[in-house]
Amino acid sequence: MAKLLEGKIIAERIKEELKKSIQSLEIKPVLASIQVGTNAGTNSYVLSQQKTAQMLGVDYRLKEFAGDVSEAELIDFIHKLNSDKTVNGIIVQMPLPEHIDCRKIIQFIKPQKDAEGVHPENIGKVLYGQGKILPCTPAAVMELLNETGIDLYGKEVVVVGHSDIVGRPLSLLLLNRFSTVTVCHIATSKAGKLEEHVKRADVLIVAVGKAELIKGELVKEKAIVIDVGINRVGGKIVGDVEFEQAQKRASFITPVPGGVGPLTVAMLMRNLIETTKV
Ligand code: NDP
Repeated sequence: MAKLLEGKIIAERIKEELKKSIQSLEIKPVLASIQVGTNAGTNSYVLSQQKTAQMLGVDYRLKEFAGDVSEAELIDFIHKLNSDKTVNGIIVQMPLPEHIDCRKIIQFIKPQKDAEGVHPENIGKVLYGQGKILPCTPAAVMELLNETGIDLYGKEVVVVGHSDIVGRPLSLLLLNRFSTVTVCHIATSKAGKLEEHVKRADVLIVAVGKAELIKGELVKEKAIVIDVGINRVGGKIVGDVEFEQAQKRASFITPVPGGVGPLTVAMLMRNLIETTKV
């Protein structure tokens, strides 16, 4: 039976450390947050950012735009935040409505204020293994892996999902630790190859957003399973991995909720400390 990797508990410990680091800064850090429209997932992520900010002594400034805001208006607001000396970090809540090009918007955030670690300049540093501002969810996954004590050197790591915010940057962080990384995506599934990759994973990380896409019986004995997925099914939140069956086979597994999510917010605040020091 796998041990639970309880992100919630690990995040509390990290937040205590972050609180001390924030107290030792000369100023109270200001995190500017932009939300466009409403969406259940984003609302709960914003709430959790607000709570964490309050606990750590961060000034969290939320700006809400209507769902039909134009790209130009958003970019104009980001310019204002970039030049506002009182603002230390900026986060644009995703997803944005379809009429807005996320990749374009992100490029307008000043890299030194990019609290989410999503600007191409910061992602580029991750490629070189020199990043100090790391993309939050991939950084959260790495914290969870560190917690297991695994030496990633030479391990077969399978990442399912290749999004800009999770799968792709995560594969770079894993590569920097010399694991053998396989990234699976929709084409892997369509080619009927997903199962064979999942079955040989020493470490399986799933970030797709499809409830219980990965059947527990496919998990390799003693594998480490990190489930990033958040899916609302019949009033319950479940991950992308069939939890009960997977728990019987794995050595460590994250619960959903209470796994990756709480650590993602802690990583955001860790980045904010870095951007405040700049
Ligand atoms: P995206 O929708 O941006 O990416 C999903 C990825 O899964 C894509 O790369 C997609 O491939 C791939 N995919 C879709 N269907 C399949 C399939 N059948 N087989 C293999 N791959 C597939 O989602 P995100 O990366 O933003 O988020 C993924 C999940 O993680 C969501 O549930 C989200 O809520 C959650 N999440 C959780 C966070 C946390 O802190 N816990 C933070 C961020 C996200 P393609 O693009 O080629 O179709």
